[in-house]
Amino acid sequence: MPNIRNIIVLGGNYAGSSIAHLFLKHTYPELPMTGAKYRLVLVNPSTTFYHRSASPRAAADLERTEKSCTLFSNLTEGFAQYSPESFGFIQGLATDVDLDRRTVTIKRTEGVGSGGVVEETLPFHALFIATGASPNADILDTVQNGKEQVLSRIRDMNAKVNGAKDIVIAGGGPTAVELAGEIGEHLNGAAGRFSKRPSNPKARVRLISDSEYLLQTKLSRKHAGWAEQLLARVGVDVVSGVRTTSAEPNSDGSTRVLLNNGTIIHILDERGFVKTNDKTLRVDAAGPRVYCVGDVGTYTRGGLPDLILAVLPAMANFRRDLLAAHSNVDAKPTGRDKAHEKSTAETLLCTVGYTRGLGVFTGRQLPYFMTYQFKVEDYFDCGHEFASGSRWEKTSF
Ligand SMILES: Cc1cc2nc3c(=O)[nH]c(=O)nc-3n(C[C@H](O)[C@H](O)[C@H](O)COP(=O)(O)OP(=O)(O)OC[C@H]3O[C@@H](n4cnc5c(N)ncnc54)[C@H](O)[C@@H]3O)c2cc1C
Repeated sequence: MPNIRNIIVLGGNYAGSSIAHLFLKHTYPELPMTGAKYRLVLVNPSTTFYHRSASPRAAADLERTEKSCTLFSNLTEGFAQYSPESFGFIQGLATDVDLDRRTVTIKRTEGVGSGGVVEETLPFHALFIATGASPNADILDTVQNGKEQVLSRIRDMNAKVNGAKDIVIAGGGPTAVELAGEIGEHLNGAAGRFSKRPSNPKARVRLISDSEYLLQTKLSRKHAGWAEQLLARVGVDVVSGVRTTSAEPNSDGSTRVLLNNGTIIHILDERGFVKTNDKTLRVDAAGPRVYCVGDVGTYTRGGLPDLILAVLPAMANFRRDLLAAHSNVDAKPTGRDKAHEKSTAETLLCTVGYTRGLGVFTGRQLPYFMTYQFKVEDYFDCGHEFASGSRWEKTSF
């Protein structure tokens, strides 16, 4: 029997798909031909990649969203290019990570409807935790059993939005602002050139935030007023400094890590994020060859730019660890790790409806046409590139 070493990646959206494609495209072909063999196993509850960045628009108007970007991509098709010796996909949720035994327990989600739930425990040689962070709103969430389920939630939401006369959205971060903006413009239209509010609003839309000012976690105060003006333009009123109940999302989006057994608890901070070394992207307290990339890590403020910045150093350090341990699993690499440089720049692109947005790049306000081209028009339309791996074709690390 060949000695097969599992590289398990938990989570298959932006971070997990990136890790898996980068490994299979660039690292796997470079591994020694003799001795141990490697196989990457990607674990995700759905075979669908959800471009959740565009979900605020989908919540207001699915049809408009599907015209401007690819909301769903097929992970099975994206990974069909790799051989079964190098890659396996498990449609399921990791329910338990045992860091002492170095195993992951996975509850399969395929066939759940017909009662066919199967649990299995796999040993890992290396582990990536890329399970993301979840807002308290199903339609914005990536933890799902499949495209049909998300689509039906989105359609329900569209129907509720279209029939509503009074809508309250809680939260002061980019997700809440985008959601309020999309719903506002969808229902109320936008103000004319010389007015501040739409002339004939169909519904009252309020954004209630418990932070001092909007977008406080991302931007300095001077840009907040601008967000409020753009929201007023689509008929959204902002009510600041009001504490919301626990059933509503927090201003920075709540998080949950779906792995909470005894051995993993000590690698989580008090909010449930994975304590990650922000230079190496290793999870130092979890033992050798355990890494974390994406919103679930403590190294990040969340968002795709941070994730894209982290993925390559994580892969470089993973490759060093893997090659060093090829003949002796206890061996560590010599020389320097690739250092991840954290971004601290005041940068944000936030849609406020489907015609305008707020853009700040390294502290400077961007003109509307740039924000429109970068984001408002199509919400980056990058989901399919992550799912197919085309984004990482020519990368080196
Ligand atoms: C509504 C909304 C709008 C956003 N807009 C933007 C934007 O415009 N620009 C931007 O830069 N960022 C935006 N973000 C943030 C961006 O979506 C995140 O940075 C990104 O999703 C993080 O990717 P990830 O792969 O770490 O996590 P996710 O995309 O959340 O993916 C995590 C994956 O792990 C799976 N998973 C969870 N638990 C388990 C488990 N136990 N076992 C196996 N799999 C599991 C999930 O199902 C999911 O597929 C937005 C976020 C939200 C919620």
